[in-house]
Amino acid sequence: MLKGKNAVVTGSTSGIGLGVARALAKDGANVLINGFGDKAEIEAARTAIEKEFGVKAIYSGADMTKPAEIAAMIATAEKSFGSVDVLVNNAGIQHVAPIEEFPVEKWDAVIAINLSAAFHAMRAAVPGMKARKWGRIINTASAHGLVASGEKAAYVAAKHGLVGLTKVVALETANDGITCNAICPGWVLTALVERQIEARAKASGKSVEAESIALLSEKQPMHKFSTPESIAALAVFLCSDAAATITGSAYSIDGGWTAQ
Ligand code: NAD
Repeated sequence: MLKGKNAVVTGSTSGIGLGVARALAKDGANVLINGFGDKAEIEAARTAIEKEFGVKAIYSGADMTKPAEIAAMIATAEKSFGSVDVLVNNAGIQHVAPIEEFPVEKWDAVIAINLSAAFHAMRAAVPGMKARKWGRIINTASAHGLVASGEKAAYVAAKHGLVGLTKVVALETANDGITCNAICPGWVLTALVERQIEARAKASGKSVEAESIALLSEKQPMHKFSTPESIAALAVFLCSDAAATITGSAYSIDGGWTAQ
């Protein structure tokens, strides 16, 4: 379905982003992967995509806190592939603290990576999509883009902002063959969530298993993690012709979290 299309997935060296990059490649797209981590592991992930799916995969180490590096990443993909047809703004970090103790530099970093980076990437990629009259933009928001939890001031603000930004870009591109949607996952067991579970276990003295169940049951009626593969399948659907008129939407995939 995506043969001949070219995708950029930010924050795709692990977790949901890697799952999305692999699913887009499986569907035929060339992919630019991005994010931090061990050099050898990133190179292994990149070559695995090329070998398993017969597409071109390139890596950009662009830092999503740096607007110039984000613009350069989009330019690199356009130069290497000829276009950016699919943009998945997925890079994200979390920090948990009460408002009065929230470190200012953590606020700035969460807003930069989870919200502003998507603005900079869309600003750079939309002109090419408009010129070619085809584009798919998917922003990884969160259940926290729709509802709040305590001690997550920056994350909840960034994800609510990202859902709003998704709607604006959807309106502006509605007649340019471009769609722009947000995916709002509940709990997905990735490094980002493992760190939160470990912190809870350390604080409570309970086991990681007990804290995993506690974390799930506090928010989700369904006591089950979504998987990067299930989020990726939704992203692939949003790139399909069947989804050509879906734009400006925020899709929950959250075990019932936001149904409450
Ligand atoms: P993860 O920690 O496995 O992946 C985060 C990715 O972002 C990594 O590739 C990391 O290297 C990259 N990244 C971090 N800072 C970066 C920076 N400055 N520049 C470039 N890349 C950077 O986490 P994940 O759970 O896969 O999260 C992916 C997205 O999904 C995030 O936006 C997160 O908020 C969102 N999300 C996750 C969950 C969940 O339960 N895991 C739920 C809802 C939303």
